[in-house]
Amino acid sequence: MTQAPPVNDPTLQEVDMHLIRPNEPGTGVIVSNEICTASRKAAGYVRHIEIDVSGTPLEGKCRPGQSIGIVPPGVDEKGRPHKVRLYSLASPSGGSDGSGKIYAVTVKRTIDEHWETNKLFLGVASNHLCDCQSGDEVLVTGPAGKRFVLPADPGAHDYVFFATGTGIAPYRGMVEEILATESQSRIALVMGAPYGTDLLYHDYFTEAQERDKRFTYLTAISREERDGHGRMYVQDALHAHRETLGPMLQNERTLLYICGIAGMELGIFQKLATQLSHSALSQYLDVEEEAMASIESWDRRMIHRQVKPTKRVMLEVYA
Ligand code: NAP
Repeated sequence: MTQAPPVNDPTLQEVDMHLIRPNEPGTGVIVSNEICTASRKAAGYVRHIEIDVSGTPLEGKCRPGQSIGIVPPGVDEKGRPHKVRLYSLASPSGGSDGSGKIYAVTVKRTIDEHWETNKLFLGVASNHLCDCQSGDEVLVTGPAGKRFVLPADPGAHDYVFFATGTGIAPYRGMVEEILATESQSRIALVMGAPYGTDLLYHDYFTEAQERDKRFTYLTAISREERDGHGRMYVQDALHAHRETLGPMLQNERTLLYICGIAGMELGIFQKLATQLSHSALSQYLDVEEEAMASIESWDRRMIHRQVKPTKRVMLEVYA
């Protein structure tokens, strides 16, 4: 017999997946390509790129939290066609203009050095996309992903969203979609970046906060002091902004979403375990008794074993 889910476990949206497969990609057309860091002096180059997918099976079928694939043109060093790369959507379900024809992605140029040869290394897909001009064609696949999406009834929950760097992408569409409901749903978004110049969509989220009291936008800057706070990782916001985040996390409606750099989830879980009451913590984490006695020494391998996120936690982290 199937058991009914515990109260307040979310029922996630049903989503379409793999409508276009990499062996037969569709053609999208670049609509716009703009810098989306808070300043041109940012440490990295990050662009908000809008792609017209009309006429492909992606049209109207993508949801925030899902990714679309991009197949770069040309072949790799072994002469094989390049593999597909996934990028999180930075749009609500209706895309940029509500018609489901134009979806955006947030792309950081991968620029590095080969360790052994000290030659320049340029990421193939990210630089292909960031170089694109309006009107250029790109090969698209997807959508992919079904676990990091909003609940079927977004107005039934409150949300604490954590992002680092380009991990902010899915929240751009999610925040818009939740605020479009007539519900009382509250959202707190904590965005982590190395410097203030690296914050992504900073004006967009600042304006959304000014417009709608249900939305709170908090930043955690890791390499400089800002707004009276010392250097912070996103997890440090749990203490620094405890008046806002504490009551939200105790609330039985709240869901936790974590997206960005691998490792951030560990720090967030450790701070939750240190700061929340036992009953509030159990909404998000099922922690073995022994692990509870040594929170400071947790490591990532314990996640999903001794430290298990509940269904109220959505995780999307990459190295
Ligand atoms: P970034 O601009 O370098 O910012 C990352 C921020 O996170 C920095 O402030 C960094 O601090 C901080 N940080 C580093 N380690 C941390 C930890 N253990 N806990 C908390 N904060 C930590 O970021 P980025 O280059 O855009 O990279 C974003 C990452 O997100 C990439 O790994 C990307 O693959 C991933 N991503 C995931 C998705 C998804 O859908 N899952 C989507 C987009 C991006 P310091 O550098 O100062 O230490």
